[in-house]
Amino acid sequence: MARSSTRISLADVARATGTVMGNFDSAAVGKALGGFASTYIGGDAHPNVADISECLFFSPGDGRIWLQDQRMVLLHTEALGSLRREMVDSLGTKQARGLFTRAGYVSGARDAQLVRKQWPDADPSAAAIAGTRLHALEGVVKVELVQVVYDAKSGSYEGEFLWHNSSEDDEHIAAYGIGGSPACWMQVGYATGYVSTLFGRLIVFRETQCRSMGDAHCRVIGKSADQWDDIEEDMRYLNAREFVDTAAYARPEPDAAELPSASASAGDAMVGASSAFNAACHQLSRVARTSATVLFTGESGVGKEKFASMLHKISPRKSQPFIAVNCAAIPETLIESELFGVERGAYTGASVSRPGRFERASGGTLFLDEIGTLSFVAQGKLLRALQEGEIERVGGTRSIPVDVRVVAATNETLRQAVREGKFREDLFFRLNVFPIHLPPLRERRDDIPLLMNHFLNHYRRKHACNVRGYSQAAVRTLLNYDFPGNIRELQNLVERAVIMADVGGLIDVHHLFTSGETLSPDVMTLRLQEGSDTLNLAATTAQAAATVAVPSRSSPSPLSLEQTEQAMLQRAIAASQGNLSAAARLLNTSRAKLAYRAKKHKLV
Ligand SMILES: [Zn+2]
Repeated sequence: MARSSTRISLADVARATGTVMGNFDSAAVGKALGGFASTYIGGDAHPNVADISECLFFSPGDGRIWLQDQRMVLLHTEALGSLRREMVDSLGTKQARGLFTRAGYVSGARDAQLVRKQWPDADPSAAAIAGTRLHALEGVVKVELVQVVYDAKSGSYEGEFLWHNSSEDDEHIAAYGIGGSPACWMQVGYATGYVSTLFGRLIVFRETQCRSMGDAHCRVIGKSADQWDDIEEDMRYLNAREFVDTAAYARPEPDAAELPSASASAGDAMVGASSAFNAACHQLSRVARTSATVLFTGESGVGKEKFASMLHKISPRKSQPFIAVNCAAIPETLIESELFGVERGAYTGASVSRPGRFERASGGTLFLDEIGTLSFVAQGKLLRALQEGEIERVGGTRSIPVDVRVVAATNETLRQAVREGKFREDLFFRLNVFPIHLPPLRERRDDIPLLMNHFLNHYRRKHACNVRGYSQAAVRTLLNYDFPGNIRELQNLVERAVIMADVGGLIDVHHLFTSGETLSPDVMTLRLQEGSDTLNLAATTAQAAATVAVPSRSSPSPLSLEQTEQAMLQRAIAASQGNLSAAARLLNTSRAKLAYRAKKHKLV
């Protein structure tokens, strides 16, 4: 075990301190659960209070507290209160509220990922309730459920909760007394992050009553973004910068077929609320007002061109041209004349003089994607343009002054290219004035539900396919997927799925990853993981591997997840002569989990 062996579970703490366990499962929760369309969640539905409490580990030996695999801290609410006060006083209420809302969002999204990972089979409503229990376990607020209506068919969600003993209200009232607006900013962010991540679509929570406004308790209402009339105000706090796209969440018309096709391409929208995304946005707005050269780095598909064009749009050069060049797409022999233009007679075929991209971008921004692929000669000319603000056309003798802001992007490490002698060091330093790293999607997972929501809206408009939303299995799959192709891959998956899915139906896993194609190793691995979150395949021992054959990735007819799981269970049970405990050991899981799954597949 990687972590310290001195672990104290919550139950141990409770025993030691005399705390009563499980009392945060309010009776009202059970009573109110009638609100769930057809599901009753009894005390046994997983994850229950005891399951959730078991996720918390104290490891004082090495100074860590864990909530499953997330590191936590115990922080005095008064310390949080003073942080809050300082932020409000120095940044203003609006800014501070935004910061806390976004921090809450990240926290909620993480907790939803934990529940998804830990209880992949949990009923959606039980998984939703788990969020209220986690929030209570974390000491933030006691949640009483008034009603929740979740329609699995349409994916629509509406929830109403009462919040008691809100820690944020305690601190807010202590500092500012009773006021005119709600103050549970982080908690609202948490609820939005949790439920949106769980259902794979943006569900916006709003506090309609708050203790900080003199009410006896806080009342919060959560609805799908398209069910609120006006979410501009809510989104203002979720988005770090004004240029982050709010229209992306706008209410789609009920009948997509009547809509004109979306005018802006999906590529234009900037969508996200994760801390990694926000950090990049902050940097972008800092440097936009200057003329400094910006270098975007990051894997392909992370949206470097999107950031570059946004940089232009929010800069003083916005009314001038934005010219984008993908250096890798232009043959080496042509790149020079493309960038710097050509004089008549420079070479055979150059019958007329023409300006290059540099001249065409005059006064505006020139975006050079895949800058690492530039030839040495072109690198030298580019350096000169950056240093002296002038260029020379191919075959020309005259220097032409240019006023161009150069923005470059690379998905390889230029530093490495410099070391290997493939890229000029002086040019590298010129370009690297203001580097902005764009993280891969797997490092900003909190944004996946927002992006899913955004692309779904975009493509159902574009293709006039009125798909309702994502199935639970599809949400789970996308949340667990690694996205080697980053945002572009997610975008492509959603576009295809919107076309594949039935009108009025939900997007399911097989719409995202069609079975007709040869599955990429990633998807196959994903499918295996998807079924094996509790049957830990990765940890399967050599002994198990000998008896439990995992289908080969190049298997001609890919097995479905269900079939794969069933085959594995069958073999493990057979190899253990029907002894479920032994079979569970073989698959590195618990007997209870194995028994549950075996029963599901009617193997016992
Ligand atoms: Zn409140």
